[in-house]
Amino acid sequence: MRSLIDTVDFSIEELDDLIRVACDIADHPEKYAHACDGKILATLFFEPSTRTRLSFEAAMLSLGGNVISVSSAGASSAAKGESVADTAKTVSCYADIMAMRHPLEGAALVAAHAASIPVINAGDGGHCHPTQTLADLYTIYREKGRLNNLTVGFCGDLKYGRTVHSLINALSRYTGIKVVLISPEELRLPEYMFAEVLDKKGMTYEETTDLVAAMPELDILYMTRVQRERFADQEQYQRLKDSYILTLDKLDTAKADLAILHPLPRVNEISVAIDNDPRACYFKQVLGGKLMRMALILKLLEDAKNDYQSFRVVDGLIHKDTKTCRNGRCICQVEQEIEHLFVQTDAENDVWRCYWCETQAE
Ligand SMILES: [Zn+2]
Repeated sequence: MRSLIDTVDFSIEELDDLIRVACDIADHPEKYAHACDGKILATLFFEPSTRTRLSFEAAMLSLGGNVISVSSAGASSAAKGESVADTAKTVSCYADIMAMRHPLEGAALVAAHAASIPVINAGDGGHCHPTQTLADLYTIYREKGRLNNLTVGFCGDLKYGRTVHSLINALSRYTGIKVVLISPEELRLPEYMFAEVLDKKGMTYEETTDLVAAMPELDILYMTRVQRERFADQEQYQRLKDSYILTLDKLDTAKADLAILHPLPRVNEISVAIDNDPRACYFKQVLGGKLMRMALILKLLEDAKNDYQSFRVVDGLIHKDTKTCRNGRCICQVEQEIEHLFVQTDAENDVWRCYWCETQAE
């Protein structure tokens, strides 16, 4: 059964197709108003994320389908200790497709292996949130008409921002992308992102602490929030925080067709004065998220008609007793009887990662 756990589960051609369908939905919504008549989407949110759940539910309703949902972690059987695999098998009897958000990393992948319906990862801990990345790719395409030959600036918290890592990963599959990494020293992109994505794929990139200096060359500016609690030194935070808040004056040297993205919610990292600037694309991005979820639901339901193979082939994985996943938020650490599987992601340096959460194994 085809599922979406990470954007790498789809080929570039499939992503292009999704974007093409989402654009068509945007232009001709009436064509799709009954595309999912009689179908049921289950939204299983084992941690709160109201906006993502609303987006999935609005997507299914706009396709003429129905929605059943679990929205409170406390009320669910998970609180009674039911495994993610059992939940996935149960929900497979009620729905045609499910979207799952779960605090444990790897949970959606475990669900995809157990379910007999397509599973969409709506966020698994700090690991993946692929439908946000789909929204980002759609917005870039819609604004620029292409996903290659772009200079993309990422600003703010590049260390912990999973949306940033995921989008860089997705963009690494396109050609002519230059990445400009704009962050304080404390919040630089993690080393493994250089070793396993930027350097490995031979991407062009530069690092800077200066947003204003980087501005003139950017086609896309992806903003994230610099959070106080990420800093050990609060004086340092006070000194730095304004440098990473986007204000109108910082846009003086920006291109006229710059597109400003933000995964939202915004706190104060983009001045509201920018909202009326045509370069502000973060609310279009929210709409793009719904359109891409519509295209994704259509694709996975269509694939489900033809595809009876299990999701991802596990044969090539190595089950090594000598390796351990030390990620306390990984589902294999919390639930019993989940096989501890590892994949080698960097042969040269002998780097192995947990199959479920992708944390480097020890
Ligand atoms: Zn793990």
